[in-house]
Amino acid sequence: MKIVVLGAGLIGVSTAYYLSRAGHEVVVIDRQPEAGLETSFANGGQVSASHATPWSNPETPAKLLAWLGRADAPLVFRFSTDPALWGFLLRFLANCRRRPSQKNGATVARLALYSRALLAELRSETGVRFDAEDRGILHIYRSQRELAKADAIAERFRALGMALDTLDAAACVTREPALEAQAGSLAGGIYSADDLSGDAHVFTQGLQKYCAERGVTFRFGTTISRIAHSGDRVTGVTTDRGVISADRYVMALASYSPLMLKPMGIRVPIYPAKGYSATVPVTESNRAPMVSITDDDHKIVLSRLGNRLRIAGTAEFDGYNAEIDRVRAQAVLDAGDALFPGAMELPKAEFWAGLRPLTPDGVPVIGRTRFRNLILNTGHGTLGWTLACASGRIGADLATDAEPEHDITGLGPDRF
Ligand SMILES: Cc1cc2nc3c(=O)[nH]c(=O)nc-3n(C[C@H](O)[C@H](O)[C@H](O)COP(=O)(O)OP(=O)(O)OC[C@H]3O[C@@H](n4cnc5c(N)ncnc54)[C@H](O)[C@@H]3O)c2cc1C
Repeated sequence: MKIVVLGAGLIGVSTAYYLSRAGHEVVVIDRQPEAGLETSFANGGQVSASHATPWSNPETPAKLLAWLGRADAPLVFRFSTDPALWGFLLRFLANCRRRPSQKNGATVARLALYSRALLAELRSETGVRFDAEDRGILHIYRSQRELAKADAIAERFRALGMALDTLDAAACVTREPALEAQAGSLAGGIYSADDLSGDAHVFTQGLQKYCAERGVTFRFGTTISRIAHSGDRVTGVTTDRGVISADRYVMALASYSPLMLKPMGIRVPIYPAKGYSATVPVTESNRAPMVSITDDDHKIVLSRLGNRLRIAGTAEFDGYNAEIDRVRAQAVLDAGDALFPGAMELPKAEFWAGLRPLTPDGVPVIGRTRFRNLILNTGHGTLGWTLACASGRIGADLATDAEPEHDITGLGPDRF
């Protein structure tokens, strides 16, 4: 079968890998000159099943109110009359209730565990390297109250088969000695030994090359303008370089998916949430962490990528504007520097901003549509690196009528 994948980020390239592995003819289209140059470029680097709690959770509404008006707040809204934003926010708030939030968290956690297992398989099969650190992820907390709340959430994930250890402050420092300077201010942490970190962009490019060597065609520098359809079938993808047709189509266009789907009468509530990262050379190796860190108070994550440290975080609802706001980018760097003082060559920080394709429930959109040969694989929000392999595998299974080995209940676009 000939299958076209729209988008060559983490999700599109992973889908192409599983399609090609199953013996299909695969063409991947992307407007960029190479793979992984948009949202998958400089993310937080965490493959973090332990981070499955969606942003839409019971704690969020109060935090949003507390952050209103602060230029360096972890989350800001730029006022907009965009009805897509307001529709998104209403659904987001509805998902902040305890029951839906716990259900969504469990769906994501199961998918993340599946993805982590597939990533291990993919690594041994392909040999793709990406500055991986298989040293786990440590979530740190500064008050006993926050630690107790995190432990209650961890308990629900443990019931799903996730190995999570609750550590006191001293054990956190033993686990990651670079936290020594923080020992006095830490209450403790939750450690996920089986999570890992690595450079998502390097991974995407490595896997793209592996796929290309095995016959997958990549049409880079090719911008998709619309999807042509007739009756219940997609007939082709219209691009600035002509129409590309296939038997099946998988859409992995992240935040741009709803714009492409709207003229087809398909509405998916995916909205871009801009985030920032700073990538900084490490100067004092023993002061910079090797274990990937999530600092929940400051809403940042830190990952060691070889001799660099990646610090990422914040969310900004500013439509499709991916420009870097220096105040917010600096706030991310400052938070990382405060945690690991003297570890980095700060003037050499490289800032980046990307648009997370967020869904209101925090669950990606992977499933069939009313067009029988169109599959969606999008809306991976804060966790596209964590969920890439499972999403690629399920997307490929659905596109080729294979029965997914993972339970896909609650992933499809029909839930909206
Ligand atoms: C600051 C930040 C930190 C993050 N940290 C983490 C983390 O630690 N762990 C984690 O799991 N996730 C993290 N994420 C989320 C993760 O990066 C995303 O979920 C993931 O990159 C989404 O992958 P994608 O392939 O769907 O999107 P993309 O990588 O954006 O791929 C979509 C592709 O579609 C192409 N495209 C779009 N429109 C068109 C068009 N019209 N024509 C042709 N091509 C088109 C684009 O060029 C792009 O290459 C983070 C995100 C951000 C912003």
